[in-house]
Amino acid sequence: MICDFCSAENPTRKYDCLPFLMDNLLGFEQWSDSAWAACDPCAALIDAGAWEVLIDKVTATFPISFTPAACREYRRYLRGIYAKLKTAMGQTA
Ligand SMILES: [Zn+2]
Repeated sequence: MICDFCSAENPTRKYDCLPFLMDNLLGFEQWSDSAWAACDPCAALIDAGAWEVLIDKVTATFPISFTPAACREYRRYLRGIYAKLKTAMGQTA
């Protein structure tokens, strides 16, 4: 298994959530399943509500480098998904 946020191996935490429609970025519906796995560093950020820091971390660990414009677009995409995830986890912003 890998961390559903930063793709680190052997995640230690699991966040249960209701299934939700993530996006249809590629022209097809992509549903989130019932739980997201997280490694310790990502879990610490999630538990602290530091979602913008988590987005920094996830963006920095992405395997390709982005142009600044593509990076902004990807951050917007992550922010949207994480907002839905927070709701699915029963949290409020
Ligand atoms: Zn992680």
